[in-house]
Amino acid sequence: MEIVHVAAECYPVAKAGGLGDVVGSLPKYQAELGHIAKVVMPMYRTKFLYENAWEVVHQAGQYLGPHWFQYTVIKEKTNKLGFDLYLIDINGLLDRGKIYGYDDDTERFMAFQIAVCDWLSKWEHKPDVIHCHDHHTGLIPFMVKYCFAFNYKLADVPTVFTVHNAQYQGWMGWDKYYYIPAYDSFKWGLLDWNNNINPLASAIKCAWKVTTVSNSYLDELKYSANGLENLFEYEKGKSNGVLNGIDTHVWDPQTDSMIIKNYDKELVEKGKQKSKKELCGQFGLDPDKPLIAFIGRLVGEKAADLLPDAISQSIYQHHGNANFLVLGSGDPNLEDRLDQMKHQFNGYYNSFIGYSEPLSHQIYAGSDFLLMPSRVEPCGLNQMYALRYGTVPMVRNVGGLRDTVTDFGDKNGFGIRFNQASVGDITYSVGRAIDLYNNKHDLYNWMREHMMTIDHSWDSAAQQYIDLYSSLK
Ligand code: ADP
Repeated sequence: MEIVHVAAECYPVAKAGGLGDVVGSLPKYQAELGHIAKVVMPMYRTKFLYENAWEVVHQAGQYLGPHWFQYTVIKEKTNKLGFDLYLIDINGLLDRGKIYGYDDDTERFMAFQIAVCDWLSKWEHKPDVIHCHDHHTGLIPFMVKYCFAFNYKLADVPTVFTVHNAQYQGWMGWDKYYYIPAYDSFKWGLLDWNNNINPLASAIKCAWKVTTVSNSYLDELKYSANGLENLFEYEKGKSNGVLNGIDTHVWDPQTDSMIIKNYDKELVEKGKQKSKKELCGQFGLDPDKPLIAFIGRLVGEKAADLLPDAISQSIYQHHGNANFLVLGSGDPNLEDRLDQMKHQFNGYYNSFIGYSEPLSHQIYAGSDFLLMPSRVEPCGLNQMYALRYGTVPMVRNVGGLRDTVTDFGDKNGFGIRFNQASVGDITYSVGRAIDLYNNKHDLYNWMREHMMTIDHSWDSAAQQYIDLYSSLK
């Protein structure tokens, strides 16, 4: 089977969050199953681009509204990532240092999607499936079916759309309708939601199958989907939840070259101790106290706004018996607050504001607990990395967190769960973590060893996607 994944991110080429991790690993596992998996993404100016060798496979031009643009498709020469990687270079639009965050993101991803459809329509054969990820690729299912420039070739190619995050939908006003290449105008309703062009909604309407990255998230979207609740309910017949896996080659405490000391489940105590000592030394924290970490985007979805109050209240209420470390970037006000707090809680709390892949690995390895109080969590990869590194996840009962973590108070439970994204619930859970760490050694050791044996690799999920594609033939 030949699968073309289209996405805005792919680790290690360019990653802003879990989308990058998924697109960098799912195709690799599909290739290992004997399929041809390809990834097509924009060519940003990233380190990966300059450090690898590329060949030009296609050059052409297309219109974005009245503007003619040239695009070039380049392919990584050595199959370094375990799948075929193609980058689309659109001079002046995509070739920038960051993935997102520009005023013309609409035009950038619009041009990207047009280029992808144009290129695919020029292939001599057809792929078996086009698998699009999140709203940056959300207009592709519509365009391959209804745009005259592409549908003569691609209309019968199945499209699958995976919702990694329904909060962001790529809305644009109808004043930008002319960006979309000429299409059967009776179909305009398939682009519309609430009087806007909505790429995420369009994908949910037009893709042959829709998947979400966990089962619980699929259920939750029917009552909380940033305005698309009715649409998710309406399209439930073609929707499935497929829980993300993790790349167990990249995330392996036995071989991870970014951590201080490698370890497996037998050596978890010693291995983590060493990593923790180093981490605490670096951040001025006490290695004898339980270390509770947060890693992630500093945004409302992750309930990161609760961190300052939850951390300070926990330090006061639990008499400084736990230490806290935050790695994240996002809302500038929150970044400032989390940075300033370092001085107030010197020795009890520290933070690194920014993005650091190596530090994230060191924190998964060196901390005892990983806090995820998320308001929305489509799947969540952090808790799966934590499990793999023997770090107890402290999670809110939501989305993929609910599907992957059980509470140690329940039979065979191995994590800490709480119900509300609130300072009170977090502070209470910190108390449980301190008690577990200080007073329940046998249970704590069993939990760490047990969670390291849980298989969250892509093996089964990669096959589930293959089965889904096969059902479309
Ligand atoms: P989301 O995609 O919603 O941000 P996920 O849990 O699915 O959340 O994935 C988050 C990914 O991004 C994980 O690989 C996590 O380690 C990484 N990550 C998030 N913030 C940072 C950061 N500041 N530095 C390094 N890695 C980060």
